[in-house]
Amino acid sequence: MTFKASVLTLYPEMFPGALGLSLAGRALEAGTWSLEAIQIRDFATDKHRTVDDTPAGGGAGMVMRADVLARAIDHASPPGDERPRLLMSPRGEPLTQARVRELAAGLGAVILCGRFEGVDQRVIDARKLEEVSVGDFILSGGEPAALVLLDAVVRLLPGVMGNAVSGEEESFENSLLEHPHYTRPQEFEGRPIPKVLTSGNHGKIAAWRRAESEKLTRERRPDLLGSPQPLAK
Ligand code: SAH
Repeated sequence: MTFKASVLTLYPEMFPGALGLSLAGRALEAGTWSLEAIQIRDFATDKHRTVDDTPAGGGAGMVMRADVLARAIDHASPPGDERPRLLMSPRGEPLTQARVRELAAGLGAVILCGRFEGVDQRVIDARKLEEVSVGDFILSGGEPAALVLLDAVVRLLPGVMGNAVSGEEESFENSLLEHPHYTRPQEFEGRPIPKVLTSGNHGKIAAWRRAESEKLTRERRPDLLGSPQPLAK
């Protein structure tokens, strides 16, 4: 079973982009996953290949047309295609490592990248698009968001990461941020590596890392611990 990503975009040249290199790129070449970038404009019907129009009710900017997008989605995701249909959108559910894991365990994803002011609400409703946000900020288009999502998913596909264990110990996998890392040299600008890490005592090292993780999470992301306010230090 190969994870298949179909990305609907006005800028297919942006794909695979960064995902053509490094881990994701090697996995793409090896056939661990596949990617098709579909030009939305190919589904316009007028001679100017129009994909957008002015917003009903007035206001700034342009809105992507429901009819054109629906044809593109129906082409990418015909009846029987069980892959989730995602719309990259700042209004969406914020992407989490848990959702990334679910996606990586599935057949793939159909990903619609918005541009301009966004897309006509009726295609979101009619094609049951799941809106996904990559953070509380506004991008100029959904493409970088789609690259972010796919990067996070692809590295979890079987065989992609060299050392599978590292995936399980990372930030968010246990609702904690990761502990700090150190490597050679033993001393850098007067700063030594914490002694415990060079002690060879694996029990103590694990306990130290756990404590550092908890401290960092309390300081930076108390929300991950389920507490609304930072705890007293
Ligand atoms: N007017 C919209 C923003 C449009 S930005 C609003 O205020 O909500 C244009 C496109 O970029 C969006 O349709 C979406 O596909 C993409 N985009 C922008 N910010 C994003 C984010 N934080 N997460 C995911 N996609 C985003």
